[in-house]
Amino acid sequence: MGAVGRYGSRGVSIRTDHGVRYLESPPSTVDLAIVGGGVVGAATAFFAARAGLRSVVLEKRPRLATLTTPVSTGAFRLQFDNQEELELVREGVELFDAFAERTGLDGWDLGLRRHGYLFASLSEGSAERAQRLVERQHAWGLTDVELLSGDEARYRFPYLTPEVRQARFRAHDGWLHPRRLALGFAVAASHPERIPGYSGGGGAFFCVDTEVLAFQRDERPRGTTREITGVATSRGTFSAEHVVIAAGPFTGRLAALAGLELEIRPTRRQKLILPELPEIPPHAPMTIDDETAAHWRPGLNGCYALWTEADTPSSEPLDDVPISTAWAFGLLDPRSDHSLTRVSTLWRDVWERGTADWFLQAGQYEYTPDSRPYLGPTPVPGLSINGGYSGHGIMASAGGSRLVVDLLLRRVDPAVNPFRVDRPMVKREQDVL
Ligand SMILES: Cc1cc2nc3c(=O)[nH]c(=O)nc-3n(C[C@H](O)[C@H](O)[C@H](O)COP(=O)(O)OP(=O)(O)OC[C@H]3O[C@@H](n4cnc5c(N)ncnc54)[C@H](O)[C@@H]3O)c2cc1C
Repeated sequence: MGAVGRYGSRGVSIRTDHGVRYLESPPSTVDLAIVGGGVVGAATAFFAARAGLRSVVLEKRPRLATLTTPVSTGAFRLQFDNQEELELVREGVELFDAFAERTGLDGWDLGLRRHGYLFASLSEGSAERAQRLVERQHAWGLTDVELLSGDEARYRFPYLTPEVRQARFRAHDGWLHPRRLALGFAVAASHPERIPGYSGGGGAFFCVDTEVLAFQRDERPRGTTREITGVATSRGTFSAEHVVIAAGPFTGRLAALAGLELEIRPTRRQKLILPELPEIPPHAPMTIDDETAAHWRPGLNGCYALWTEADTPSSEPLDDVPISTAWAFGLLDPRSDHSLTRVSTLWRDVWERGTADWFLQAGQYEYTPDSRPYLGPTPVPGLSINGGYSGHGIMASAGGSRLVVDLLLRRVDPAVNPFRVDRPMVKREQDVL
């Protein structure tokens, strides 16, 4: 149920719905305009509100967090191949653990589960790569990643096939409900006075059905680039001191509107949902084929299964991402080279039974050249980016958004930001997940 009031010099009406404060159109001026009402835009609004900024979140769809965010499996892991992303996600997971207290949202349940992440190796090459990675992770202080022999892994996870020769496992990795996370950030940003450590003066409003069409820029060139001064939307134009683009797969397109060329490749990723599946052990970890990147985890009364194929071509950003039944059969059919049966025997039973109901959802990862996000200020004065998260935008949303707000407020030196937009790009060996 909602409450309605009036706001600002334009007298636009405020509606509060399930704790989120909505405006029918943007106010005439804000400290910060955030483009995109997915988990990343909502997290940005939360950290901005906590820091005392007045912001507005602009979302072109009629509801928040309805594009990529709800398609995600909501999983988080610290098992990364680089220390910077590991620390970024670690910061977020610490917040997830104490979400209700840190946001002031008493009793807010993220549906957090810690069943672990299990990467299974079938080939010698994969096992050797995993051993080297675990050594590096231990050296970075992530000492609770276990390297299991095939037999040890089967003893703990009896559904693994005899072909699994080794596995790496971290019990504290897990997952949560991604939309509850996004809406939790939105509610907390709407009521900053409840946030512990809030210094006053800030807070966010949300405008849905509001598409950003263009950015207003200073008429007088300052150096070679012109400063952003405002935002033109389908519901009016307003002035903003700062703009953060958090538009998921549309981030590159929005940056281009501001005169900034960013390399971001939206790439279709699908999720197979089997809502009722008695074969799935309810406490199973996220189980990943380290070579094919096919993976699954318990979800609903069944399972979510995915395949993040390395060679999927990128495309334009899409509002409606098509699904493919052939893709689903590629996971389910034991004859497929990336079938889930390679790692887990239970999938052969599911296939042979032939009666399981399933359906698909699709969204897009946004890949940067090194598959790490773009976070922080850009060469266009007044414009910051919070995007390019590939498959990590849920788990890294909190750490990334806190960093973007701190950079914007000059609390962090941009030179020490490993995710700055103009960093040298180093292509990584393999982390398509
Ligand atoms: C199949 C799949 C599985 C995934 N699994 C995981 C996982 O397990 N863990 C994990 O951490 N990540 C996962 N991800 C990635 C994660 O979902 C994304 O990184 C994250 O949701 C990105 O959030 P976002 O807010 O940036 O983007 P979105 O949720 O896409 O939100 C962006 C918003 O911007 C809006 N927008 C765009 N253009 C405009 C405009 N001009 N004006 C106004 N609004 C605009 C869009 O309508 C949209 O609502 C997965 C992704 C997919 C596709």
